[in-house]
Amino acid sequence: MTSPSFASIVPATPPAGTTTAPRLEVVHLSATYQEGRAVLPVLKDVSLAVGDGEFVALIGPSGCGKSTLLDVVAGLVTPAAGTIQLDGAPVTDRARLGRAAYMRQKDLLLPWRTALENAALALEVGGVSKRRALAAARARLPEFGLDGFAGAYPAQLSGGMRQRVAFLRTVLADRPLMLLDEPFGALDALTRAAMQAWLLDLWERERRAVLLVTHDVEEAVFLADRVVVLTPRPGRVAHEERIALPRPRRRAVVTAPAFVAHKAAVLAALGLLGTDGA
Ligand code: ADP
Ligand code: MG
Repeated sequence: MTSPSFASIVPATPPAGTTTAPRLEVVHLSATYQEGRAVLPVLKDVSLAVGDGEFVALIGPSGCGKSTLLDVVAGLVTPAAGTIQLDGAPVTDRARLGRAAYMRQKDLLLPWRTALENAALALEVGGVSKRRALAAARARLPEFGLDGFAGAYPAQLSGGMRQRVAFLRTVLADRPLMLLDEPFGALDALTRAAMQAWLLDLWERERRAVLLVTHDVEEAVFLADRVVVLTPRPGRVAHEERIALPRPRRRAVVTAPAFVAHKAAVLAALGLLGTDGA
């Protein structure tokens, strides 16, 4: 009998500060919506995991069920089948509410609260006093390009600024699992690049588990350890691309041959490359 190889007996080194169970496991998840009398299948038998300290991007065509998947994980939508495990244990829908920091695709700022009050909301809901929550949010406004807008109401802010307020609120929620649904979708290219760099920097410092939805292939490859590609609705996992690029990552990596190869693989899985590579 041959002795097992080193690699087969020693698990991959988990990131620093960890439990061994994945932060999130989506197991054989199916989801449907009722449309009148018809049942609309949205997700079909989707399984994926996000390890502690891992950054996973979820990409797929519009309408394939990405937002629905995050809503299920957050406990807002009850799945037709499947289970959601957090830190190795199945958790019911209701018990999942509030377990993850969730930035939904449509920014859900409260119109009667200022930018600062909206940003502080998750902390307040978590039991932090209003004064301390506001102070914590105020301290980070400059980082998010919101300096000088503390007192502005959502209706007075651009779409990009509202998105940054919602992002700040999500970051302040300070959960080990972050669910981000196209968090930079409404930003112009320069702000988007700045926020991506900022997110990478935060992630490298704090190593929270992140599940980020995007429809931008370059964003997915640039940010993630792994890119999960979904098929058109009903979404199933078409491909998982492990991104082997070193960290910390700098913007210049987008021109590296390995980056371009990962991007091509994801585009191919999305059916966006012809067989001739055109
Ligand atoms: P994605 O985020 O990938 O664009 P969604 O998860 O938002 O996709 O939506 C998946 C499908 O489910 C779409 O066809 C959408 O129209 C439909 N859908 C989303 N939310 C609802 C809802 N609350 N009721 C009925 N259908 C919905
Ligand atoms: Mg969506």
